Amino acid sequence: MTGRMPGLIVLFDVDGTLTAPRKAITPKMLQFMQDLRKVVTVGVVGGSDLVKISEQLGKSDTSCCAVISDYDYVFAENGLVAYKNGELIGKQNFKSFLGEEKLKELINFTLHYIADLDIPIKRGTFIEFRSGMLNVSPIGRNCSQEERDEFEKYDKVHNIRSKMVSVLREKFKHLNLTFSIGGQISFDVFPQGWDKTYCLRYLEDFPEIHFFGDKTYKGGNDYEIYESERTVGHTVTSPDDTAEQCKLHFLAKQAGDA
Ligand SMILES: [Mg+2]
Repeated sequence: MTGRMPGLIVLFDVDGTLTAPRKAITPKMLQFMQDLRKVVTVGVVGGSDLVKISEQLGKSDTSCCAVISDYDYVFAENGLVAYKNGELIGKQNFKSFLGEEKLKELINFTLHYIADLDIPIKRGTFIEFRSGMLNVSPIGRNCSQEERDEFEKYDKVHNIRSKMVSVLREKFKHLNLTFSIGGQISFDVFPQGWDKTYCLRYLEDFPEIHFFGDKTYKGGNDYEIYESERTVGHTVTSPDDTAEQCKLHFLAKQAGDA
């Protein structure tokens, strides 16, 4: 891949940016990305794990090997799992970062807090342990959709999640954690900086980093990397919009330079 713009990389969010929400990439978009890769270095950075990213970005072959060789860089779980030219270059997770002792302290405290919480109903799975974070739900993740909707309404009035987050934030401030309330029934707990900017540590060789994402507003999962002073941020509304903006920025430029 010689002759590509040196020192420049273009990064893409996956869901809503390269694919329609929760859908697979279209053949047309896949072809576009391959054409773009002839001109610029290309990376993808998704919040999901590599299996899910492969399902969304893979061709007919949905194995993980396909996607890691389709792009120069693939960052799964915001970059906690990082690939360059098809090779694994980094792997980090919540458990090894915190260590078992601190993790246990955090989980024990959280479970005690939920046990003492007087809310109308509780179900099961109050803490879901994921590789890059804990997902905490006061009602429990395996409630029904109806129970979810009820909890969301109840939480808007009683601020169950935001009160819980402020207690945890104070109690565990020495651990430098981020608490992020999202969706209807839960919040995420992860180390500071473990958003999409995490992947930037692997891109020291690129003075110019472009990022394209759909959730670039405050509270969205593309916000931090979009706002980062290391990137030039671009907001898109769909995969078609992504392709259009890229043509304008990188393909037209190439044609003009030639
Ligand atoms: Mg997105």
